Amino acid sequence: MTTPTPEPGMLTYTSDGVMACPLCGGNNTHVEHAYISARKEDHEPREIHVSAITGEVTREEIIAPAGPAVGEGRRQRIALTGHCENCTGEYAIIFTQHKGETILETVPINEGPIYRTGRTSWR
Ligand SMILES: [Zn+2]
Repeated sequence: MTTPTPEPGMLTYTSDGVMACPLCGGNNTHVEHAYISARKEDHEPREIHVSAITGEVTREEIIAPAGPAVGEGRRQRIALTGHCENCTGEYAIIFTQHKGETILETVPINEGPIYRTGRTSWR
């Protein structure tokens, strides 16, 4: 198994399918939360959060993280967040539907810049 060199903002994984930490390239990551910002084009989003640890589901309370490329965009957004044992960093992996394309971004949470929606905190 080889660990790919992480590139900032890129999601990489080994030939065995092990995801590399988007912050340090380490292979001891934990994806623990799923966020969905459900939205038809230009409609108000409906926010859904699922804790993969507890199974708790919350609606409309926690806004899904957004990446810097298009922010919230005009359509739906799905984000996964987790942490890394190697660097202890937290990251978000964000899929944003925008103009017929799916934009994939990785964003550090606890260090460096992260786009915030301007509505309310998503944490
Ligand atoms: Zn890491």
